[in-house]
Amino acid sequence: MGLGRRLEGALAKRFEGKVRFGESMARHTTWRIGGPADAMVFPESEDDVRDLIVLLNEHNTDWFVLGGGSNLLVLDGGIRAVVISPAPGLSDVLEAPLPEGRGVRVQAGASLAKACRFAADKGLSGLAFAAGIPGTVGGAVMMNAGIPGAEMSDVVSEIRMIGPEGGNMTIGRSELDYSYRRLRLPRRAAGVPGRPGIIVSAVLMLRKGDSERIRDETEEMLARRNQSQPGGLTAGSVFKNPPGGPAAGRLIDRAGLKGYAAGGAVVSGKHANFIVNRGGASASDVLELMETIRRRVKDASGVELEPEVRVVGEEEQG
Ligand SMILES: Cc1cc2nc3c(=O)[nH]c(=O)nc-3n(C[C@H](O)[C@H](O)[C@H](O)COP(=O)(O)OP(=O)(O)OC[C@H]3O[C@@H](n4cnc5c(N)ncnc54)[C@H](O)[C@@H]3O)c2cc1C
Repeated sequence: MGLGRRLEGALAKRFEGKVRFGESMARHTTWRIGGPADAMVFPESEDDVRDLIVLLNEHNTDWFVLGGGSNLLVLDGGIRAVVISPAPGLSDVLEAPLPEGRGVRVQAGASLAKACRFAADKGLSGLAFAAGIPGTVGGAVMMNAGIPGAEMSDVVSEIRMIGPEGGNMTIGRSELDYSYRRLRLPRRAAGVPGRPGIIVSAVLMLRKGDSERIRDETEEMLARRNQSQPGGLTAGSVFKNPPGGPAAGRLIDRAGLKGYAAGGAVVSGKHANFIVNRGGASASDVLELMETIRRRVKDASGVELEPEVRVVGEEEQG
C-alpha cells in the first residue's frame, strides 16, 4: 500500500494544504462507508488539476475522481490510487450566453443544489428536475442524473475537461453519448480505467423563466422527494429501473425485502430501492445485501437487476 516516497513528497510539495494521505473515504460518501485512499487531493484551480494529472502520469499512478460520493460504494479496503475532489475548490457558477438561448457555466465541484439556486435566482428554467439530487455537477453529468422524464442530457450543452494526459478539452453536445444514468465520453477524453479525463466545468442550456415559479417548482420537487425517499445515510437508488418493466423498488418490495438487513445495512421500509446504513455498515454488508436482492428479485420475478451505484476500490485483505 502507498504511493512511494517520491510521489508522496512531490504531492506534499506541489499541493501543500490541498492533499491528505490515507484519507478515509467514509468521510466523503453519503453512505459514510469506504476504506482509505492512498491520497486525496483537493485542487483549487484548473491548473492544479492539470499539474496533478501530469505528475501522476509521470509517476505512472492511477487516479479516481470523486464528486459528492452520493452514487458510490467504496469498498472497505479503500482506493489504491489518488482520489481527486473537484469540490470544494472548483465550484463557481456563472451565467453563460448561448446561441440557442441562455445558460450557466458550472464548475464540476459545485453542488447541483447550488446550480439550481443560481438558475432560479437568475430566472432561468429547465433545471428544477435536479432539485434534491445530492452531489456535484461533475457527478451529475457523468451519471446523467435525473428523474423520470428529465435528465442532465437534456440540458448539457458542452463540457470542459482536463484530458487523461493533462490537456484541455472541450467536448460539444454532439459528442456526448448519453443513455440511462450513463455518459460515454469520446475515447480521447475517457482515457483508460484508472486514468480517466476529469470534467472541470459544464455549460447547461436553460430557458428564460420566472424566479417565483421556478422556486415553487423546486419546492414541489423537494416535497415529493421527502415523501417518497428515506432520510439517513443512503446512496439513492441502488439498482437501475429495468427498461419497460416495473421500477426496481417495486420489484424489491414484491420480493418481500423491505426491512431485510445484512449487518448494518438495511433495505429501506419507505423506498425498497434504497439501502440505508443504520449505523456501522461496511461495504461488504451492502454488497451482501445487494447480492441477496438480486437473487431474490430474479427468483420472484425473473428480472436481472443491474446496479446503479458504482462500486470502486479494493476488498479488505484478511
Ligand atoms: C438521497 C439521494 C437521492 C438521490 N436521487 C437521485 C435521483 O433522483 N436521480 C439520480 O439520477 N440520482 C440520484 N441519486 C444518486 C446521485 O446523487 C447521483 O448519481 C449524483 O449525480 C452523483 O453525483 P456525485 O457528485 O455524488 O458523484 P459521485 O458519486 O462522487 O461519482 C459518480 C461517478 O461520477 C464520476 N465523477 C464525478 N465527478 C466527476 C468529474 N468531475 N469528472 C469525471 N468524473 C466524475 C465518479 O468517478 C463516479 O464514477 C441520489 C442519491 C442520494 C443519496
